[in-house]
Formats: sequence, C-alpha cells, structure tokens
Amino acid sequence: MRERIHGAARVAGREPSSVALLAVSKTQPAERIAALFQLGQRSFGENYLQEAAGKIAELKFLPIDWHFIGPIQSNKTRPIAESFSWVHGVDRLKIAERLSAQRPEALPPLNICIQVNVSGEASKSGVSPDAVGELVAAAAALPHLRVRGLMALPAPELSEHQQRAGFRRLRELRDACAGVALDTLSMGMSDDLEAAIAEGATWVRIGTALFGPRPRPAE
Ligand SMILES: *Cc1c(COP(=O)(O)O)cnc(C)c1O
Repeated sequence: MRERIHGAARVAGREPSSVALLAVSKTQPAERIAALFQLGQRSFGENYLQEAAGKIAELKFLPIDWHFIGPIQSNKTRPIAESFSWVHGVDRLKIAERLSAQRPEALPPLNICIQVNVSGEASKSGVSPDAVGELVAAAAALPHLRVRGLMALPAPELSEHQQRAGFRRLRELRDACAGVALDTLSMGMSDDLEAAIAEGATWVRIGTALFGPRPRPAE
C-alpha cells in the first residue's frame, strides 16, 4: 500500500510524505490492528462507535491515533470527543458545537474535517457545496476544535477521469475557503486513491486494499 501511495504521489508530482495513510479498520478485529501497528501504521479509522470503543479499550496500551469516519448521531458525540483525535464526517454545526463542548480540556483540540456531498446524491451525508464556507467559518470559531479541511465520499465512478472530477471539486471548495487555513483533504479509498492523490488528497482512507475483504458486511 505504501508503494501504491508513493507511486501515485510521484505520478502527480507530489512529495510522497504529503499523503498520509488512514487504515480503515471497521469490522476488523483488534489483533489485525495490532499487527499493522507493529509494521509502523499509527492512524486507524473506525465507523461504528460501539465497535470502536471495544477496540480502543482493548488496544489502549498502544499509542494509536484514532479517527472517527462514520456518520455521527448527535447523542453520540461525547465518546467521540473523548476517544478520537480526528473526526472526518462533520456536516452540521450542531455536531461541531457538541464535539467542541465535550472535548476534554486535558486533550489537544479535536481535528475535524467538514464532509461535503460533492456528488449531490440525496442519500449521502455531507453539507452541500454552497454551504461549506459558512460551516467552516462557524466551526473554526469553536474553542476545542481545529478545522483541518474537507472530506468527501463521492459516488463510485469507474474511470479515473470521472473519479477525479469529484475530488477536484472538493479541492476547489477547500481552496475557496478564504480566512481559515485548511491543510487537509480526506479523500480516496481502495478503488480510487490514485485519482484522489492526483487531485491533492492528504489522507487516503483505505480498508479493503489493506486488510482484504471485510470479515462481515459493514452495518
Ligand atoms: C469503509 C470506508 C472506507 C474504506 O473503504 P475501502 O473501499 O474498504 O477502502 C473509507 N472511508 C469511509 C468513510 C468508509 O466508510
């Protein structure tokens, strides 16, 4: 996977170290996370709070950097604010406010990405592209959050050309956020990471291509 990411960065004329790998470990047991940790992987992404909480407790002796990448219900923000260092899918101010209010004082600010619905699908979560600037500005004013950038989960496309269009849109929206310095684009998964890296991804979120097929279907 590192080879694949570095190759894609080189093709794009980017520094390989500018693209970070988030290992998406949803549905994978703690032992497999520990095994990747032994190989040097530090950042892991989880989608389901209850499942993640079990693994975080089990692996608390390892200095893992946990990222929450799933949909967020407003009554579940406290454990997220307490146990994760990043949250990628913030798409409402109410969620950002709760995460900020519930972030423990002893921890550094919680890093967040604003999720954007770049493909305009009615079923997808994410703020609409025309509302991104306002949400970024409002979230950036909250004391215990650091708004790092934007995240997207575009509809799957077969051609790299079509994949790039959604990712380019996210990059352009990030670049248009004047007044808040955003250093992060969380985009690209197992099947489209080359396109995402070509358009500027700084976190690629990879599950299947790292761990193999998930042991049980994602809920
Ligand atoms: C599951 C998931 C991924 C990883 O997907 P793969 O296709 O297995 O690489 C990335 N991002 C999010 C938000 C996910 O839910």
